[in-house]
Amino acid sequence: MKERRILLVEDDPINSILVQHILESEGYVVLKASTAEEVLMQIGATIPDLILMDVQLPDLDGLTLTRMIRENPSTSHITIVALTAYAMTGDREMALEMGCDGYISKPINTKEFIRTVASFLKVADREGGFQQ
Ligand code: MN
Repeated sequence: MKERRILLVEDDPINSILVQHILESEGYVVLKASTAEEVLMQIGATIPDLILMDVQLPDLDGLTLTRMIRENPSTSHITIVALTAYAMTGDREMALEMGCDGYISKPINTKEFIRTVASFLKVADREGGFQQ
């Protein structure tokens, strides 16, 4: 089976470990970052199949970071799903407007989360352009 790499961007260490364990139990390879600076270093080295992007980071908000990733031709194709604790309406629209492919609310529901991640990886496959 093809290895799937997910870059988990989350500055809360407990959330980060929780989500990492869920993803690893599904067989995904998890790369982690807790600041925007770490994200840029990570994707400079390895392009992941999917980024799970916390909206609130200590150095730069996740949506501004998403826009930066979209503006770079070598990373603009990466599937990015926002992770946000914001309960406010309009956040989904804001995430999509800033270039996210989708949106997951925290706290996450494990089963729903696994299904959502799998469906975004299918989208990533279709858009990947590696089919012969
Ligand atoms: Mn955060």
